[in-house]
Amino acid sequence: MSITSKSLDGVLYIVATPIGNLADISQRALDILKTVDLIAAEDTRQTTKLLQAYGITTPMRAYHEHNELKEATILASLIATGTKVALVSDAGTPLISDPGFRLVTKARELKLPVIPIPGPSALICALAASGLPSDRFLFIGFLPKNATQRLALFKSLETEPGTLIFYETGLRLKDTLLDLATAFTPPRHTVIARELTKKYETFLTGTPEQIVDFIIQDPIQTKGEHVLLVTGAKQKPAQDLEAAKRILKILLDELPINQATKLAARISGNTRNTLYQLALNLRQTQSDI
Ligand code: SAM
Repeated sequence: MSITSKSLDGVLYIVATPIGNLADISQRALDILKTVDLIAAEDTRQTTKLLQAYGITTPMRAYHEHNELKEATILASLIATGTKVALVSDAGTPLISDPGFRLVTKARELKLPVIPIPGPSALICALAASGLPSDRFLFIGFLPKNATQRLALFKSLETEPGTLIFYETGLRLKDTLLDLATAFTPPRHTVIARELTKKYETFLTGTPEQIVDFIIQDPIQTKGEHVLLVTGAKQKPAQDLEAAKRILKILLDELPINQATKLAARISGNTRNTLYQLALNLRQTQSDI
């Protein structure tokens, strides 16, 4: 167990910035960006636009995926010697499909204070307005570019009950929706949240195939930035094991163990593993008699 106490000296602030509308920044974030010694920015040109809009002149230093390893060490040693650093990405919350993980782990290793300054993130913004269940969700980030890998990823998520959230580029949106249509039957209710907080903010909802049809008619929908949200798997209520056992007993009289287990799982809503174990026990009991 280790506790990192807040210090008045060197500190790393993780500062969330707008995902489109520059007004979506907190007063606390602005105060921090104004008063730190250094801003570590994913793309200094991009962050310049935000700083200029608020008259902030704090020096910047580039921290991105190509120099993360080296920069994390440099920034951590600056913080250790008393420098106040704010980490920002181009948009939204740093570390969420964005650079920052190496710096935060380095700072934690050195027991330096790391302070989050919360604000926008496209995934939360999209989920909150999507109308999909928000009590449980799984954020995957960017999907693989390769179609085979993408389909395999969807298949691996087939039984996940939480809402699935992905980042995807407009370029691959249509192919990804068609893969979704192939991977999940029956079709899942899907939402595309596009250009959040910006002028052309749009929510498209329907089955993946319905959304593809819409995009074909209105290709402008592939422009800009997108969050893809998919309803999670419906969970069958698991029946009590006694009922499952009765079903299994009948099936085991007629079928091999694998087939009996598979069918009993489908009928009862219990998992195949649980029922396989139960089937082994039943077979053992029968052979002991
Ligand atoms: N760190 C960011 C966050 O907290 O959301 C995400 C950065 S990631 C490099 C960029 C991706 O986030 C985009 O390709 C898009 O999928 C999603 N995104 C960012 N801004 C968005 C917006 N205004 N509307 C829809 N999606 C957005």
